[in-house]
Amino acid sequence: MLDFLGDLKRTHMCGELRASDAGSKVVLMGWVNKRRDLGNLIFLDLRDRSGITQVVITADAGAAMHDKATAVRSEFVVAAIGNVKLRDANTVNKNIPTGEIEVVADELRILNDCKPLPFTPSDSVLANEEVRLKYRYVDLRRPEMQHNIELRHKIAIAIREYLNSQGFYEIETPFMTRSTPEGARDYLVPSRVYPGEFYALPQSPQLFKQILMISGFDKYFQIVRCFRDEDLRADRQPEFTQIDLEISFPRPETVFRVVEGFLKAAFSTIGVDLATPFPQMSYDQAIRLYGIDKPDMRLPAMADVREAFAPENLETLHVDAELPVVAIVIPKVGELSRKERDELRLLYPARLAQQSIKVLDDIRRLEKSFPQSIAKVRELSGAGTDDYIVIVGAGIVSFGEGSEGETPPTGGHVGGSYGSGSGDAGNVPSGRTRLSMRERQIFEGAGQVRLALAQKFAERHGAFKHGNFRLLWVTDFPMFEWDETEGRWNAAHHPFTSPHEHDMDKLESDPGAVRALAYDVVINGTELGSGSIRIHRQDIQAKIFKALGMSPEEQQSRFGFFLEALQYGTPPHGGIALGLDRIVMILAGAESLREVIPFPKTAKAVDLMVDAPTPVSDRQLKELGIAVVGKKDL
Ligand code: ASP
Repeated sequence: MLDFLGDLKRTHMCGELRASDAGSKVVLMGWVNKRRDLGNLIFLDLRDRSGITQVVITADAGAAMHDKATAVRSEFVVAAIGNVKLRDANTVNKNIPTGEIEVVADELRILNDCKPLPFTPSDSVLANEEVRLKYRYVDLRRPEMQHNIELRHKIAIAIREYLNSQGFYEIETPFMTRSTPEGARDYLVPSRVYPGEFYALPQSPQLFKQILMISGFDKYFQIVRCFRDEDLRADRQPEFTQIDLEISFPRPETVFRVVEGFLKAAFSTIGVDLATPFPQMSYDQAIRLYGIDKPDMRLPAMADVREAFAPENLETLHVDAELPVVAIVIPKVGELSRKERDELRLLYPARLAQQSIKVLDDIRRLEKSFPQSIAKVRELSGAGTDDYIVIVGAGIVSFGEGSEGETPPTGGHVGGSYGSGSGDAGNVPSGRTRLSMRERQIFEGAGQVRLALAQKFAERHGAFKHGNFRLLWVTDFPMFEWDETEGRWNAAHHPFTSPHEHDMDKLESDPGAVRALAYDVVINGTELGSGSIRIHRQDIQAKIFKALGMSPEEQQSRFGFFLEALQYGTPPHGGIALGLDRIVMILAGAESLREVIPFPKTAKAVDLMVDAPTPVSDRQLKELGIAVVGKKDL
């Protein structure tokens, strides 16, 4: 029953025919999106990646062709040969670009059939995601997926073209390598030739790109797959794609301008003209103004409104007058009833109560008791009359209550004592005032309340509509993070990140105060990428490893080859990596990374289409010298 393609040539794509093509003879090929049988007339909506054209088989075509068209089902692959005809005015379909015409077929070839499907690309209700992923090839035929994959292609090309125009070389680095320093678990590849030995799949090309700088390729980039065996979270993929770059002799701004340039090119694919340069904010500022290191600037920043209140008034409210009092403003929320406010409290993180952080959300009542203070709060926070204001402060607690975590050993900045306010915050050379641990808790708690309210009232403030993009650079991250469980300092980025030149003397005396030359690019509250200026001197690298408590033996065994390379004329260098999947997801307005990755894995790291991972044969294991222990022994 099936026909051969023979020497038939496609003349047009299904989505490109217009009224001006009326009268032409065309050959279309594609999938049957839908078939409608009106007895005498059979309509086939023929679809390819460019769109849909309506094909009509009339009674004139003869019984044989009519029978053929009757046999056709959804997703059969057919060729239609016929003439383009203008539709009658009352049958024009304004919803599709080809809606003014149809093709009257005089020949139909069925190139392939299709088994009954669990769902079809023309279904108006989306199938369950597991089914979509199992039959990914059918899912990818849906116009939304075709659009996302096309967009992904355009974005990647725009980025490549931009970087090429700036003199960058795209250089490949190995997939089979040894462990890299990003800090997640590695995927391992066993070596058959050296039983018991393993390659690691790269978590990023970090060390290779730094070595490329040592090799004299002073502008490198790669759109590259990275592999991280991280604990599974909703929107993570074990393999993902980064736009990875490295530059010799840069200042952070050198990197910023390049990234702004390629993001501008990427955003122009959806017609958005990004304003550059992006604003810049230090990590400390971000915590004070947004309570988080990835600020969502689509809504107003928080404001410290402590000065609006007399200390006695704060005491009446059981709020610690020595600590920050933060106002959160969510625009255009309007009046809320008591009941609505009670419901909102369920959205606040449970941590707030444990940390004794108070949320004052009844502004009307506060206004009655402290009219001047609230007028001042409005002034300081810039709140309009229609905006919802919530005030967050530290509850008054006795010493030792509500504390979380231990105090790192050196440096006064994290002293967990309550009521110390900013008094214990030493000044660092840049003039920034460091936050105490308690102050951070307040800002971070307020930041979480701000985000919860922002989500809840998205409809009212309207700032989250697709197309509103707010980007910024966050700089001056702390160099080290205190690891409570291990009781030691960890590198906050990776151990090849350079400390700030002004903070070198604190590496041993006060690690918590050391700032890194590390930066993140953030969009709408999401981190798009992060990078740093690197350490290019072996003496500084040794100090950092020491501060991280890494023994010389461990340094050698993990990074010996790299430490050696650093000693052979390493130029100052720095770079960054951005997640391509995330950029595409944001530009497509998609809800999940899986919507923009052709063959993604589930949140449980399973590929449902090919059914991976799977056990392998005993023979394969034997060749590799591997014995698998039972699950229960792990
Ligand atoms: N390799 C780093 C990462 O993947 C990025 C960088 O520092 O360039 O997070």
